[in-house]
Amino acid sequence: MANQPVVAIYGNSDSGKTELVVDLVKEFAGEDLEVCTIKHSPSQLSLDEEGKDTWRHKEAGSRMTVLATEVETSFLVPRKMELEEVEEMLKRMGSFDLVIAEGYKDADAPKVAVGDIDSRDNTLHEYDGDFSELKRKINDLIALKDFENELPGLDCGRCGYDSCQELAKAIYEEDKELSDCDVREQRMVDLKVNGEDVPLEYFPAQFVEGGLKGMLRALKGVGDEINRLSLEIRD
Ligand code: SF4
Repeated sequence: MANQPVVAIYGNSDSGKTELVVDLVKEFAGEDLEVCTIKHSPSQLSLDEEGKDTWRHKEAGSRMTVLATEVETSFLVPRKMELEEVEEMLKRMGSFDLVIAEGYKDADAPKVAVGDIDSRDNTLHEYDGDFSELKRKINDLIALKDFENELPGLDCGRCGYDSCQELAKAIYEEDKELSDCDVREQRMVDLKVNGEDVPLEYFPAQFVEGGLKGMLRALKGVGDEINRLSLEIRD
């Protein structure tokens, strides 16, 4: 599952956050990017109503209720979720090119401050009305995430950077290359368990490759030359 670039737009009420989110959606969706938005509200607002069928499902213990109508599909989760949890869910639903959250000023995601508000950690940009500059920063974020998604995500430090994210940044900003990641270069085995990618470091990958090839070469009809191997185990 690829990580998606997420940016949170925060500011006090009436600071123009929603207008900015709407403008960003128009801009990026107009460039054929798949954009997803999240609206965070500190209120007790619920789209569900006591006595409705969906409310009854929830009361019976459903962990998530999907309200599917002829015009819309809404996913109702009967509890508060932090931005990171919502991001995880979105990753499982499919990949978006950009996720824009309105609010979540204290989340870890890169953020844009709008209006007169104290700057929070990981603020990428303080918006001063220069839309082109903000767009450039968000495009940088998308490009960085693309590089990060090309790397194995092991954070092993073998490239000299503490994390894959840092090498991705160096590729984007300096003259580093994807080939500076040895693990990626030497990757011989792609492992999926229950459909999910499981990153394998160099030595476990060598072990899996050597063990399987050795066993298969002993089988009738399999020659010494094994260049590509697919194996699927089902229950
Ligand atoms: S060597 Fe590759 S896997 Fe290890 S931290 Fe660097 S980029 Fe990530």
